[in-house]
Amino acid sequence: MTTYFIADLHLDEKRPAVTRAFFDWLAQIEGDCKALYILGDFFEVWIGDDDDDPFHRRLLQRLAKFSASGVPLAVMPGNRDFLLGAGFAAASGARLLQDPTTIDLYGETVLLMHGDTLCTRDTEYMAFRELARSAQWQADLLAKPLAQRRAIAAELRRQSKSMTSLKAEDIMDVTPQEVERVMRQFGVQTLIHGHTHRPDNHALSIDNQRARRIVLGDWGELGWCLKVTRNSRELVSWPV
Ligand code: MN
Repeated sequence: MTTYFIADLHLDEKRPAVTRAFFDWLAQIEGDCKALYILGDFFEVWIGDDDDDPFHRRLLQRLAKFSASGVPLAVMPGNRDFLLGAGFAAASGARLLQDPTTIDLYGETVLLMHGDTLCTRDTEYMAFRELARSAQWQADLLAKPLAQRRAIAAELRRQSKSMTSLKAEDIMDVTPQEVERVMRQFGVQTLIHGHTHRPDNHALSIDNQRARRIVLGDWGELGWCLKVTRNSRELVSWPV
């Protein structure tokens, strides 16, 4: 049985090919999936669990069907869908993951993150993130009507380049010292994250121990996933 990790699908009604590719992929893995981890930015935008948008409802129904088949589904909010909450979890059957989270992966403790907090050089974004993660800011936003929230989300994306970026060259890469700091803090040799749209498997050395940082790819012209079994780890891509 295989454990799958994906991130940064940025699912959006305007990119139907990516949604179709996700549905196809989900149907393919369903028979051999021990668990599925979605590490942020599954949705291009999420304005609250009460969103009645038919496209989002359809995605929730598909996730619910997947998790109802008995496969554990875990979802970590990213910087685009940070408002995912208990309502989303109930509707999809997913377990919401804190960022960061450690899991036991075939006997190894592995750290999972979305990855935005590793990009500490993007000071404008880091300041916005702190504001947007505060309970008061979120409560104020969620109290507004859906139409107003949609307008605010669109405006935020216009204003902030780092919120809008869908291309790797627009997203700052991780700060290596921050990667080491957080891996040391959690005492792990493996970190899996997304966000930067720079899929790769980086060999690291932390305190003279071999370590690795596996970066998931964003979905666009290619779909990406990390497949992990007891004996293998494979970052794979395929044309969408
Ligand atoms: Mn992201």
